[in-house]
Parts: sequence; C-alpha cells; structure tokens
Amino acid sequence: MLFEQLGLIEPILKAVKSEGYTTPTPIQLQSIPIVLEGKDLLGCAQTGTGKTAAFAIPILQLLHNSTPAKPGFKHIRTLILTPTRELAVQIDESFAAYGKHTGLKHDVIFGGVPQHRQTIALRNGTDILIATPGRLLDLMNQGYIYLNHLEIFVLDEADRMLDMGFINDIKKVIRELPQQRQTLFFSATMPPSIAQLANSLLYKPEKVTI
Ligand code: AMP
Repeated sequence: MLFEQLGLIEPILKAVKSEGYTTPTPIQLQSIPIVLEGKDLLGCAQTGTGKTAAFAIPILQLLHNSTPAKPGFKHIRTLILTPTRELAVQIDESFAAYGKHTGLKHDVIFGGVPQHRQTIALRNGTDILIATPGRLLDLMNQGYIYLNHLEIFVLDEADRMLDMGFINDIKKVIRELPQQRQTLFFSATMPPSIAQLANSLLYKPEKVTI
C-alpha cells in the first residue's frame, strides 16, 4: 500500500514524498481513512510508530478541504494537546513538513518560556495549535485563545498526561470544547482510568491498536 492509495490530495502527497516516505506505517494505514471520514479515533500506539503523521496528514487534508466554522480573530480550528515541550515541538515540525504546500497556519505553545512571542503569533488565530496543558490554560484564562469554534481535538499520549498529573488541567480544557467536534485520542496503554477518560471524550470511536 502506498500513500497514493489513501486518497490524499496533491499538496500533501508532494510534501510526504519530499520527506522520503513511500509506504504508510501500520498506524497510518489504519488511521488516515478513519480521520478523513470525520470519525472519532481511539488509537493505542506509541511514539516511533509514525503516530504523528497518522493524525497530522488527515487533519491537514480535512482543514485544507473545508472553510473555517468561524474564521479570524483568535479562533482555532484544531487543538493538539501533548504532555511535553519536546513532543509539542516535534508535532509542530511535522505539521510544518507535511503541510508546507497547504497554506495552513500552525503554532506551538509551551511553558517555561516568556509568553509574549506565543501570544503575538496567536493574535490572528491559527488553523492548528499544538500545546502543553499548563500554558494553554494560562493563555485561555488571559483571553488569548478561544476554543468555542474548534473542529478537531487531539489528545496525544493520554497515559503520560495522567502520569504527569495533568488530569485536572485536561478536564478544564475539555469543558471549553464545543460538543460538536471530531476527537482523536492516543495512548500507549489503556488502563481503566484512560479508558474512562477516552469514553467521556469520544463519540462512537473507531479503534486502532498497533
Ligand atoms: P512518530 O511515531 O510520529 O514519532 O514518528 C517516528 C519517526 O518515523 C519520525 O521520525 C517520522 O519522520 C518517521 N516516519 C513517520 N511516518 C513514516 C513513513 N510512512 N515512512 C518513513 N518514516 C516515517
């Protein structure tokens, strides 16, 4: 199976090829069609499996092919929540690489650095925001970020989020999400606490296990 056979649009295929990828990894093969159909996804997969491209590629295609629910000022179309700065930066780089011919805007925010450059970048809204939970809540509380027109929500490395004590932050973010949205949930392990969180977030999810 090749990337050409997944129904991807030319600007994304071109970018994927220039990364040197020829064949989708198993998680990409299974996840890309599900996400492109607009369905919720429960993915049990670790970093290193090609998980980032499994959600980034179809998200870029969905956003590229549709008009924003609410264009402009401060609005965000997709939120990726991830536990660490390193992961946030890696995900942002993936969106930059796979989305370089789409014209979609992506931004990354994380704690431990001054917020000024991040808030400037967010002034006109963004198509894709990659964030760690603490800084996201900080900027939401200050009125720099509104999630009420969000179209796609991704919770990445959910088990690690809970291990790092982010559950209350995550719950606060979830309260701000619109009911009508597409949700993608990834975790390397699926203990009861994670399954319960997934259950509260997902609507009729398709399951993918690697
Ligand atoms: P991830 O699991 O998302 O952290 O990705 C692990 C690594 O695999 C990254 O360095 C990607 O650039 C690379 N990668 C992802 N998908 C593919 C693919 N289909 N073919 C070759 N390399 C890939």
